[in-house]
Amino acid sequence: MDNFRPVWAEVNLAALKRNLQRIKQYTDSEIMPIVKANAYGHGAVEVVGALREEGIKRFGVAFLEEALVLRQYYPDLTIMVIGPTLPEFSEILVQQDIIPEVCQWEQAEALSAAATKLKKTARLHLKVDTGMGRIGFRENALKEIKRIARLPNIFIEGIYTHLATADSVDLTYAYKQLQTFDKLYESLCAEGLEIPIRHAANSPAVLRLPQSHYELCRPGIILYGIAPTKGLETEFEPVMSLKARIVHLKTIDKGQSVSYNRSFIAAYPTRVATLPIGYADGLRRGLSNGGEVLLNGQRAVIIGQICMDQTMVDVTEIEGVKLGDVVTILGRDGEETISAAKMAASINTISYEILCGISQRVPRIYVNR
Ligand SMILES: *Cc1c(COP(=O)(O)O)cnc(C)c1O
Repeated sequence: MDNFRPVWAEVNLAALKRNLQRIKQYTDSEIMPIVKANAYGHGAVEVVGALREEGIKRFGVAFLEEALVLRQYYPDLTIMVIGPTLPEFSEILVQQDIIPEVCQWEQAEALSAAATKLKKTARLHLKVDTGMGRIGFRENALKEIKRIARLPNIFIEGIYTHLATADSVDLTYAYKQLQTFDKLYESLCAEGLEIPIRHAANSPAVLRLPQSHYELCRPGIILYGIAPTKGLETEFEPVMSLKARIVHLKTIDKGQSVSYNRSFIAAYPTRVATLPIGYADGLRRGLSNGGEVLLNGQRAVIIGQICMDQTMVDVTEIEGVKLGDVVTILGRDGEETISAAKMAASINTISYEILCGISQRVPRIYVNR
C-alpha cells in the first residue's frame, strides 16, 4: 500500500546489530532475542532477518500466532513461545516445530499425545515459578516434572524461570529466585534428569546478574537500545525513531484555543504546527500539553489535547518552520534527543509500553540493512 500520510517509524538495523554485539560482551551464553509484540514494535520479521545474519538461530516470542508468522518466513530457525499455550493447540506446535513452554501437566500430556499421533518428538521447555508469580511450576515442581519426563515422544530441552526484580537496586530477591531454581535443577539431576538448557536472564539480568546467564539469555529491551530501568543507562543505541511531517501551519492570537475542551489557551500570539499523528498511532494522550517533539534541532511543546489522528505543537520560538518539515517524536535531531525512557517517565509508564504501543498504522521504514 502506498503511504500518503507522512508519519513513519525508522528502524535502524545496523544499530540493532551493534546492540547484539554489545550484549555478547556481557555473556558467552547463547542469545535468544525476544521478539514478542512484533519485536517491541520494531517489526519481528525484519528484526529476526537482521539478527539471523549475525548468526542468531533461536528466537523467543510470547504467543503461538507470533511464532507462526516467523515460521512462515524462516523455516530453518528455532522458535520458542515463552508464554503459555493451551493444550488444545499442541498439534500445531508439533507440526510447525515450535518449542512451547510447559507450566502444567495438561500441556505436557497434550503435547505428548500430539507428537505420538504425528510420529514426532515434541521439544519443550519447562517453566518454573521461582517468585514471579505469573506462570510456572511451584512447590510440586519436582514431582510434576518427573511425571512429565516419563511421557512418550517428548524431549525436555530446557528449563527456565523469570526474575521479578532483576532491574531493582536491591537484588536480594533475584538471588533468592536463582537459588530456588538451582536447587530444583540439582534435584532433577540427582534423579537422573539432565536438561541441557537452563535460562533465566532478561535484559537487566544480562547486564548485572552473570550467575543467571546459564546456557541461554533472553534479552529484549536492550537489543532495541533502551535501558531496562533508570540507573542502568548503557552504551546501547535506540533502534527506532518516530517521525512526522508538518501538515498545517498557522498563527493564533492570544486568547484563542487549541484542540478538544480548549485545554490550551494562547497566552501570546502562537505559531501552531499540526502533525498527522495521534493516540491511535501510539502517541500517548498523556503527553498532551507538555510533551515535546524536536524540530530543526530544537524542542517544541505539544499544546492542547492529542487527538486520535492529529497533534498540535507550539513552534513560535523556532525559526524558518515550513509546511512539510520533519518533526522527531522519538529519536535524535541535532544535539537533542527524545528517548522512549524519558517519554515514558513523563507519563508514568515504562519504555516497553511506549515502544510496543506504536501501532500498526505507523509504517516501519528500515534503514542500514
Ligand atoms: C519479555 C520477556 C523477556 C525479555 O525481557 P526484557 O526485559 O525486555 O529483556 C525475557 N523473558 C521473558 C519470560 C519475558 O516475558
